[in-house]
Amino acid sequence: MSQHPPDTVLVTGASGFIAGHCVEDLLRHGYAVRGTVRDVARREKVAHLTALAAELGGRLDFVAARLDTDEGWADAVAGCTYVLHVASPNPPAVPRDEDELVRPAVDGTLRVLRAAAASDTVRRVVLTSSASAVAAGRPEPKSGRHTEDDWSLVENCTPYEKSKTLAERAAWRFHAELPEQRRLEMTTVIPGLVAGPLQRAEVTTSNESVHRLLNRSMPAVPRISWSLVDVRDVAVAHRLAMESPKAPGNRYICAGPDIWMRDMARVLADELGPKGFRVPTRNLPYWALWLAARFDPTLRLALGFVGRPELLSSEKAVDELGWRTRPAAQTLRDTAQSLIDHGLVKPAA
Ligand code: NAP
Repeated sequence: MSQHPPDTVLVTGASGFIAGHCVEDLLRHGYAVRGTVRDVARREKVAHLTALAAELGGRLDFVAARLDTDEGWADAVAGCTYVLHVASPNPPAVPRDEDELVRPAVDGTLRVLRAAAASDTVRRVVLTSSASAVAAGRPEPKSGRHTEDDWSLVENCTPYEKSKTLAERAAWRFHAELPEQRRLEMTTVIPGLVAGPLQRAEVTTSNESVHRLLNRSMPAVPRISWSLVDVRDVAVAHRLAMESPKAPGNRYICAGPDIWMRDMARVLADELGPKGFRVPTRNLPYWALWLAARFDPTLRLALGFVGRPELLSSEKAVDELGWRTRPAAQTLRDTAQSLIDHGLVKPAA
């Protein structure tokens, strides 16, 4: 057993889907973890993590901090060696005012970075960016795939895509301007569409499409493609970005091969059809999606993605971090099983 106490990692937005899996992966790898939550009184949102830490004999505590205020961030980073800044608004629909997403994403990222740079203990910060900061609003690459050299064009972006692009750009600018004696190491992780098992019974934005296919709130499948990636592998990517000597100063795309939603539906239909789920696999024509989108804000968001394959290369993460992702079919089956286990979907009557 190690003589030294474990390094402490701050994970922001611990109540979230990806952050929760990061906390789990870190605890399983022997790190002490501190999570930020908006409101420590809402313990039910992190009760699953407290239970896991107790089961593993790991060290986990929570502090309150919000992306829209400076309060709490200095205390949050105190004593931490690493910071994984995962929190950012990720709602299932376009907000009325883009600043509802852009401000917390950009200002919150800078708050976390300022606190980390001012601390005596933080060595490295890993930021959760998004494919939305790489490929949005750009033409499809003529040959090959989008890489870490690409940046989304904010003038063509949805508010969420804009929030992620501006937040990551602001982070790299802040980092470049830090005085030498305060220079932190910084790395960004850029996931595609993240799916996978839920740790608690709440459908978050990223599992919305699997949820809709299973509960048939979509009668047919829009022609949308995603670079699906498993949340457990995204958590590992964050840890590798935190540990690897090669990672500082780098962006890493972590995304699986692109998969059309119709192929996702077929995997689910094959798996769950025999168990009584009637998963739609027919194509939803654009006009029908457009019509449905007039009444459904999530489908409105989907309109912009129709017919565009999401072509991303994860080669750099594979080569430099030794990162791997599991097959999309396994992620989809595990996501579906977890929605069933949490009672969030039921077979057709
Ligand atoms: P999520 O489950 O909705 O988690 C978002 C987290 O951010 C929650 O903990 C939420 O706290 C917190 N948060 C939001 N606004 C906040 C504010 N103003 N102050 C403090 N905390 C705030 O979303 P997720 O899918 O795990 O996303 C996590 C990160 O991954 C985000 O940066 C997202 O952009 C990025 N990402 C996600 C995907 C994906 O497919 N899911 C893909 C690429 C990148 P509450 O629980 O209190 O609301």
